[in-house]
Amino acid sequence: MKTPCLFVLGLIAVMPAALRAAPDPNWLGHDRERPMATVVTPGTFSSQEQPGQPPSDATVLFDGKDVSQWVALDGSPTKWVVHDGALECVPGSGYVRTLQAFGDCQFHVEWAAPNPPHGESQGRGNSGLFFGFDRYEVQILDSYQSKTYADGAAASVYGQYPPLVNVCLPPGKWQTYDVIWTAPRFDADGKLVSKARETVIHNGVLVQNNVELTGPTGWVGRAPYKAHPERTPIAFQDHGNPVRYRNVWVRELGNPRHKEFMLPEALLESYAGDYPRGSDVVKIRRLPDGLLLLNLAGVDVIMHAESPTHFYALTTDVQCDFDFKGATKKLAVTVGEDSAHPMTMERLAP
Ligand code: MG
Repeated sequence: MKTPCLFVLGLIAVMPAALRAAPDPNWLGHDRERPMATVVTPGTFSSQEQPGQPPSDATVLFDGKDVSQWVALDGSPTKWVVHDGALECVPGSGYVRTLQAFGDCQFHVEWAAPNPPHGESQGRGNSGLFFGFDRYEVQILDSYQSKTYADGAAASVYGQYPPLVNVCLPPGKWQTYDVIWTAPRFDADGKLVSKARETVIHNGVLVQNNVELTGPTGWVGRAPYKAHPERTPIAFQDHGNPVRYRNVWVRELGNPRHKEFMLPEALLESYAGDYPRGSDVVKIRRLPDGLLLLNLAGVDVIMHAESPTHFYALTTDVQCDFDFKGATKKLAVTVGEDSAHPMTMERLAP
């Protein structure tokens, strides 16, 4: 039975490390050389009166003070407000998302539905926690003694999986979601390699047990997967209700990597253009999901933002920097060991 074995081996080769359920074959059992796990100081639990402390290695996304980590979906400043230590949805202002992009992660958030409650069913304390930018929603809803369709209740994976149980607290009370998110993977041709998976713990109770998402979540109908980067911003939904958030943090899983951001669309747009270099032209074009396409000597390279001005490629050591501070719009590109001597060029006027 050679063929099935090879097929299985092939699958293992393309599966991300986090999805493999096998010990790392690079280490012996009880290997004395194997490094110990990194030490992390655990966080503390929250009470209704006070949010707890995040674990020491968490990236804090909201600590009650400011919205510096958050923007509107297009990257412009958010209109959500900070009130009494909470980030509050302003109805009609649109979703809020993180500026930073995250892949597989452990995510913690606390939320409170408006009190006194207003409206019924999907109109009562509706917001949402989205992974994959705006693609995959864990429902946030006031489901305390309030009926709606099961796969749209609080802690449902919207339209796909109802929660295993309803552990909603009354409106106005702080509730926790702890989520383990595994991003879907796509190959270089955009073909789905593995589906997204999600575990959700609501107020300390397991409500989604490593469910496999069918694709993006949505109202009426289930859309198929469409390729997107592994790392994307995390968002909260504006569904017309002033839901509040506090104590938001994330721990990205897997090996340490460069940080990655989805920059404002206006900034990315300003970088797009042609940059002549001798008889050649280096081209910068925009791609979806905050990425840039760098065309260098006829070769396309996908660039990810590490800061508002610095970009890097995942597949080869190509990096670039934009310097638009002065009168000229400069681009510097480095490839591998040439980092001390960047190729520099100026953008043609658009
Ligand atoms: Mg919602």
